[in-house]
Amino acid sequence: MYLAPLRPAIQTWQVLALSPLLALAVFWLGGEAGLATMAALCPLAMLAVRRPMPPGSSASVSDQVIARLDATLAEIAVRGGATGCLVIQFDDAAHLRDRLGRSRQSEVLATSVARLRGALRPGDLLYTLEDGSLAVALSASPRLDVEIMVRIAARMQLVVQQPVMLTSGPVQVICSIGFCHSAQLTQPSGRALLDAAQVAGDEAAMCTPGAIRGFTAEMARARSDRDALRAGFSAAVDRGEVRAWFQPQISTDSGDVTGVEALVRWEHPDRGCLAPAAFLPAIEGSDLMELLGQTMLTQSLAMLADFDRRGLRIPAVAVNFSQQELRDPQLPDRLAWMLDSFGLSPSRLTVEVLESVVSGDGEDVVAANIGRIAAMGCAVDLDDFGTGHASITAIRRFALNRLKIDRSFVKEVDQNRDQQNLVTAILSLAERLGLETLAEGVETPAEHALLAQLGCGHVQGFVIARPMPAEDLATWLVSYRERQAHTLRIGVGAR
Ligand code: C2E
Ligand code: CA
Ligand code: CA
Repeated sequence: MYLAPLRPAIQTWQVLALSPLLALAVFWLGGEAGLATMAALCPLAMLAVRRPMPPGSSASVSDQVIARLDATLAEIAVRGGATGCLVIQFDDAAHLRDRLGRSRQSEVLATSVARLRGALRPGDLLYTLEDGSLAVALSASPRLDVEIMVRIAARMQLVVQQPVMLTSGPVQVICSIGFCHSAQLTQPSGRALLDAAQVAGDEAAMCTPGAIRGFTAEMARARSDRDALRAGFSAAVDRGEVRAWFQPQISTDSGDVTGVEALVRWEHPDRGCLAPAAFLPAIEGSDLMELLGQTMLTQSLAMLADFDRRGLRIPAVAVNFSQQELRDPQLPDRLAWMLDSFGLSPSRLTVEVLESVVSGDGEDVVAANIGRIAAMGCAVDLDDFGTGHASITAIRRFALNRLKIDRSFVKEVDQNRDQQNLVTAILSLAERLGLETLAEGVETPAEHALLAQLGCGHVQGFVIARPMPAEDLATWLVSYRERQAHTLRIGVGAR
C-alpha cells in the first residue's frame, strides 16, 4: 500500500537509469550490509508493485484508455472538475486504401495521428484502438463542459483535414468524432465513458462524413436495441418469426402478374411486425445476413412450388441479395442446388442487385457471380436504379435483364414534368441497352397510367397491392385473376 505512490515510477524502465546512483547511496549509508539488503529487497519490491493481471487477460489498448480515464475520474472525485473521452474514426479509410494502396494509406493515417497528438494539451492522451479508430482521454479540467468538447472535436477535425502532401499529390482525410463528457453519465467509469464515446462515434460515422456527435441516452437505447435484435435474430429464424412477404409485379401491357418481390418481415412477439429498416442495420455486416438470405430464398422457392401445385402459378419470384451474399463464390452453386431441390427451373428466380453494388468499377467477384447466375438462366434486376452511379459499362458488364426505376422518380410522375423527363430518359436508355423496365413504388392509378403510356414494361407498388404473407397472396391472386378475367369478358362482349 505504501508503495502505491511509487508504482508509476517503479513500473517505468527509466528507473533502471537511477539504480547505480541508488546503489552508491545505499553503500555510503549502510556499507556492504546495506547493499546486500538492497539486492534482496529490490526484486521483492518490483514484484509487489507489479499488479497481477487477471487470468486470461492482457492490457489491451482499450484497457489502457479505461485505466487512464478511471484514474482521472478518481482524481476528479477528490479535487473536482470533469473529464471526457473522444473517439475518432477515419471516414474513408477503405476508400483511401483502395486509392493509395496499404502502405501509403498507413503513411497518411500516421501523419493524421501525429497531427492530432500535436493538437492535444499536455496531459490529454491519444490511443490507437484495436479497430483502427482513435480514442482521446482528456485530463481533469475544472472548466470542461460539452460545448468545450465540441470545440476540441472541431479542432481535431481541422488538423486532420489539412491536406497531407504525398509525392503523388495532396490527400485529404475526413474523420467523424463521437464524444462523451463525464457529467453525461449517471455512474461515470472509464469503461462507461469509452463505451459511450464509441456509441456516439458510430452514430457520427453513420451520418454525413465529418460529423461530430455527443453521447445521448437515446443513442445508448438505440444501441442496446440493435444489440438485442442481433442477439435474437437467429433464434427468431428458428421459431419461424422471420418471414418472406410478397409484393406482386404486373405487366403494363397485359395486366398479368409477371412476378412477386420477396420482402422480409420479422413477426416479433413483443414488438409486432418489423419492417426491414427496423432490423437490417442490426444484422448487416454479420453472418446473419447470410442466414437471412438463405431463409428468404427457401421460403420464396417453397411458395412458388406450393403455388404451382395449387394451380396458382406465378412466373418468378425476385429475391434481394446483399453485397455480402453476392461476394460469396458458392452463391451460384447454392442457387442452382436450391432451385433443383424445389424442382424449379432457374428462370423462376430473379436476383435483385442494388445499383450501389455495381456502381463504380464494381467488384470482380460480384461481377463473376452475377455472370454465372445469369448464365444459369436466372434473371437479374438492378434495384433502386437512378439512385447510384452505375455506368453504362457496369450495366453491360453485370449481365442485367431489367432496370427497377426507383420510387423517387416515380413519385408524382403524372404531375411533374421533371419526373417525366427523367423516367423517359431512363426508359430510352433501357431500350437502347435491350433491358426491360419495372417501376417500383407506384402508388396511384394516375402514376400507373402514365408509366404505361411512357412505355415502362412492369409496375409494382401499393396501387397494385402491398407486400403480404404467402397465404394472403394466394387469396389476392385468385381474386385479381377473377377481376382480370371479368374485365376481359366485358371487353370481349363489348366488341
Ligand atoms: P426495396 O428492395 O427497394 O423494396 C421496396 C420497398 O418499397 C419495400 O419496403 C416495399 O414495401 C416498399 N414499397 C412497395 N411499394 C410501395 C409504394 O407504393 N410506396 C411506398 N412508399 N413504398 C412501397 P420494405 O419491405 O420496407 O423493404 C425495404 C428495403 O429492405 C428493401 O427495399 C430492400 O432493400 C431491403 N430488403 C427487404 N427484404 C430484404 C431481404 O430479404 N434481403 C435483403 N438483403 N434486403 C431486403
Ligand atoms: Ca428490391
Ligand atoms: Ca428498390
